[in-house]
Formats: sequence, C-alpha cells, structure tokens
Amino acid sequence: MTGSPGFSRDVADNKPYFCVVGSPIRHSKSPVIHQAFAAQFGIGLIYERVEVRAGGLAAAIAAFREARGSGMNVTVPLKEEAWRLAAEHAPRAALAGAANTLWFGRDGTLMADNTDGVGLVRDLQSNHGIDLRDRRILLLGAGGAARGVLPALLEARPALVTVSNRTLPRAQQLAAMMPAEAPVETLPWGKDPAEPPDIIVNATALSLNEELPPLSSRVLAPYTVCYDMMYGTRATVFVAWARSHGARLALDGLGMLVEQAAEAFWIWHARRPQTGAVIAQLRSGV
Ligand code: NDP
Repeated sequence: MTGSPGFSRDVADNKPYFCVVGSPIRHSKSPVIHQAFAAQFGIGLIYERVEVRAGGLAAAIAAFREARGSGMNVTVPLKEEAWRLAAEHAPRAALAGAANTLWFGRDGTLMADNTDGVGLVRDLQSNHGIDLRDRRILLLGAGGAARGVLPALLEARPALVTVSNRTLPRAQQLAAMMPAEAPVETLPWGKDPAEPPDIIVNATALSLNEELPPLSSRVLAPYTVCYDMMYGTRATVFVAWARSHGARLALDGLGMLVEQAAEAFWIWHARRPQTGAVIAQLRSGV
C-alpha cells in the first residue's frame, strides 16, 4: 500500500521516513546528504524529495503524518509557512519566524526548528576559520533564509549586522524581531553601507536567476569575505563578482547546506555526523 498523494513510501516499510519539501525541489541534495550521514552510523532510512508549492504545506504535513513520516525538511518558499503551522518552536526558530526542520512530538504535536543559522555560522567559523566576533556584517535579504540566520549571526557577537532587502519593511520587521539590545540596523536596497563590511552574506534568491544585488564594487575591501547562500556546480554570479572585484574570499552555500542538514540529523537521530567528507563528496559531484 502506498502512502498519501505526494508521498510514495510503502507504509508497510518500517524504516524511518524523512523528506524535503519545497518548490522547485527536483535538484535538492538533501536526500544524498541525509543518506550519507545515516551511512556513517549504519542507520537505514527513507528520504524523499516532494514538490510542494506555497500554500500547500498544511496538506503535505497531513499526508506525511498519514504516511507515518518522522521528519520533514522545508525549503524555498515554505519556511515561514512551516513556522506558522508548527505548534511548538525551538527558541532559535521562534526568534527567526521561519522553520526548516519539522517533526512530530510524542503526542503528535508538530515541532519546528531552524538550523540554517547554525549551518551558516559553522561553515564560516569551523570550515573556513572566519571569526564573526566584532565584525561588521551586511546581510542581503529578509526572506526565510535571512530570518533563519540573523539570530545565529547575532549570537556570534558581531559589532553590527546591517540588513538590506528589496522590500525595506520586511528588513525593518526582521530587525524589530531581534532583542532590543541587538546590534542590528537596516539599509535601503541599492545603498552601499558607509564603510566596506567585513562579511557580506547574500541571502536573497537573486543568484537563482543569475542576477546580482545592486551594490557597487566600493563595498568590497581587501578584507571582505563574501558568502552566497546559493551554490552550484560553478561559481554563482555573486561569488564570481566578489572574486573579480577583490574580495578576500568568496564562498558559496554548499557548506551551509551540509551543516544545516547535520543539525537536523542531530535533532532527529541524536547523532552528530561528520560533515567534511560529505561536503567534499558533493563538491566533487559524486
Ligand atoms: P525567500 O523566497 O523566502 O526570500 C527571497 C529573498 O530574496 C527575499 O529577501 C526577496 O526580497 C529577495 N529577492 C527575490 N528576488 C529578488 C530580486 N529580483 N531582487 C532583489 N531581491 C530579491 O527565499 P529564502 O530566503 O528561503 O532563500 C533565499 C536563497 O538562499 C535561495 O537562493 C536559497 O536557495 C538559498 N538558501 C540556501 C541555503 C543553504 O543551506 N545553502 C539555506 C536556505 C536558503 P523581497 O522580500 O523584497 O521579496
């Protein structure tokens, strides 16, 4: 017998069942990553990609529950919807207003967490040795990904995080959600900060369409690190722009993807997988 529409798992199969939902979902690497983590511990599991469009998450969660699913990763454009639908939120998800990791509690309660922030911070700090303390960070975007990472960036004690978003009220709303003493300001879209930041994080969806944020190359100093949350088989447009305009370092979001998945794996399985080999495996396209 198959599960509910969209979820193809055979309910007679007793392996724990996980999925990633979003749109577009065809190219998601989450199944490969979670299977690689599971193999590190000899855990057998099912992990599927399921296409779910904006507005469709409640029905997808109901179908997943019926298919006896254990945990669901949520990606573009559903993270804020996931947050609204969950009954309980981990503190970092509560602060973010967006969730990327869902599961059912013992009594069936829909629980939510957001592992994007810890994923970004671990990639910057542990994988690339970039200290965030006392740094000035420019965060581009105020969508689900930006919401997820702002609390974690602030926890790393930067001097200032400047949030700039095409729709300025969304940036202002996001900044207002942070604790009053948090060093956060907003900047209208298309304006350069007064001084080049130490780190620029591109959390917009622009690279998906091969478009650049409207920044002048004067925002880049020889010490500036640029980080694009998007990733691909070749350098994203933002990474290529940063490299060709003299940034100290330009990184894509593959490491963040693996690190946020590792944190979700920890939540679901209480095991901490090794991430380095999985990042290298994905980087080499295997
Ligand atoms: P959302 O749809 O929630 O937000 C999109 C953001 O991009 C908003 O800030 C939006 O601004 C902005 N934006 C979209 N189009 C334009 C445009 N033409 N010009 C200027 N700004 C634009 O998406 P997410 O926040 O979930 O994802 C953003 C990106 O981050 C995606 O590329 C996603 O793949 C990547 N990501 C990577 C992760 C990783 O692990 N590496 C994890 C999470 C996300 P506005 O508010 O004005 O609409």
